[in-house]
Amino acid sequence: MILLNEALLIAPCGMNCCICMAYLRKRNKCPGCRIEANKPVTRVICKIKTCDILTKDKLTFCFECESFPCKSLKHLDKRYRTRYGMSMIENLENIKKLGMEEFLKNEKIRWTCTECGGTICVHKGYCYNCGREI
Ligand SMILES: [Zn+2]
Repeated sequence: MILLNEALLIAPCGMNCCICMAYLRKRNKCPGCRIEANKPVTRVICKIKTCDILTKDKLTFCFECESFPCKSLKHLDKRYRTRYGMSMIENLENIKKLGMEEFLKNEKIRWTCTECGGTICVHKGYCYNCGREI
């Protein structure tokens, strides 16, 4: 699968980097999971990003893998569902079902602040621009 523009900000695990705290912050900003340049030093080495199957088979997303959803992904997904009300597995299933373009359109609606048009941060649970809580 060839990814262009905003699609490059969707990580193999289904995480939308646009709504990540590390991407939204001003200092030591992360360029996104797929972008190799200027990675913040504090960045955690992700088990999924460095997954052997993903690398070896040159998979774009975890749903292309025969082990999908594997233990690591389920673990991450559970943490995000519980703590942040967001599911990576659901994201991946939507990409598969609706296609990337439709998925991105829905993501845009879901995470855009209705007050100011800024981006809602999944980790913080509020708009990064005006501070409005969701
Ligand atoms: Zn706002």
